[in-house]
Amino acid sequence: MRPPRLRLRLTGAAEAAVRSGHPWVYSDKVRDQNRPGQAGEVAVVYDRNDRFLALGLYDPASPLALRILHRGSPVTLDAAWWAQRLRDALARRSTVATPGTTGYRAVNGESDGFPGLVVDRYADCLVVKAYTPAWLGTLASTGEPGPGPSTRPSIPGLALIPLLQDVLQPARIVLRLSRNVAAAAEGLGLADGQNLHGHDDAPSVVFHEDGLAFESDVVRGQKTGFFLDQRGNRREVGRLSEGGRVLNVFSFSGGFSVHAARGGAREVTDLDISPHALASARRNMALNHGLPAVAGARHVQVQADAFRWLEGAPRASWDLVILDPPSMAKREHERAGAIEAYGRLARLGAACVAPGGRLLAASCSAHVTTAEFLASTRAALRASGVAWVEERVAGHEPDHPAGFPEAQYLKALQARRAG
Ligand code: SAH
Repeated sequence: MRPPRLRLRLTGAAEAAVRSGHPWVYSDKVRDQNRPGQAGEVAVVYDRNDRFLALGLYDPASPLALRILHRGSPVTLDAAWWAQRLRDALARRSTVATPGTTGYRAVNGESDGFPGLVVDRYADCLVVKAYTPAWLGTLASTGEPGPGPSTRPSIPGLALIPLLQDVLQPARIVLRLSRNVAAAAEGLGLADGQNLHGHDDAPSVVFHEDGLAFESDVVRGQKTGFFLDQRGNRREVGRLSEGGRVLNVFSFSGGFSVHAARGGAREVTDLDISPHALASARRNMALNHGLPAVAGARHVQVQADAFRWLEGAPRASWDLVILDPPSMAKREHERAGAIEAYGRLARLGAACVAPGGRLLAASCSAHVTTAEFLASTRAALRASGVAWVEERVAGHEPDHPAGFPEAQYLKALQARRAG
């Protein structure tokens, strides 16, 4: 027999937050519920007057107990509703995909109405990444209704993989799981990196960005294999590199480096601690050797800890220094240390910039706000002893919409050394 629907009531503050569009409800904000619930159940939230408030994906094991799917008036979650939601998400990034740009984020979690789920497209391969176990039942099932007692509930109306196949026509769909989800997935026969559709099991997929070719390690790579979120800054780097020497710190697979080389950089240096990242950057450069500018740029690689290497690096020697480190604050208590580290990094990077050259400093730490990052980077520039002109502050690209404050993780500051 089916259990009654899971019904929740929230504290006044949480109710107000949900009403104003915030998609997260923490477990200590759930005031009462009619029964215990399972990960992936759709819970109905009622307000203090017993009126329908919202539907959300429930997860009893997470501090983030509920991720809102819908608020306002009651709806039936059926196949048409989910198809519309996906089409709305695709419409938001309709300007991003072009014949020359085949890598983009198709679904960005909460901000596209698929809370805790990301879908990235790399040419004809989709990568579906789950950040909450709430999606596992749906991913493990064929979309047929009727969760048995030993399985996880699947989300009503949603056959995710058939829907993605239907709307996006991929040749392959790869599943990626965040660390907190991988263990729960095992029991359901789901594993990080497995194909959910298609037979090609090559670890990397080649896609294009502004006509440049890149590989993405969709099976094992960080995030979904490539940092699609930096596309806007990569374009800018392409425009600023003509004739210059470019230092790409935390270069990963060389995204910025290839754009710099095509933009006419005389020399591009990758700096990363990981030999795998550097090898991938070499392959990405080689993929574009058909372009005379890329073939003509001198490509240098340094495997080192960035902070240590920059301490001893030649001063005032590069026309463009890019600082795009990994997240330095994965948790709230790491915030203060991260702000300090961004300042230190900006100070070290700024010292490498030649007169008239530029610094592009980025942060992807969600726990460090844009204001905190900018303040720390600006302070480092002021303390550098030379004058800087701020040229640009950048945030999210259209395929990475951020619909609520916690989703705004990416920020960047570009400045030119005046003297
Ligand atoms: N800028 C990249 C993304 C950076 S990902 C892009 O645009 O694609 C973070 C990179 O930093 C990874 O490749 C990781 O190997 C590297 N890294 C992490 N800690 C490091 C350190 N202390 N010194 C140098 N590189 C580091």
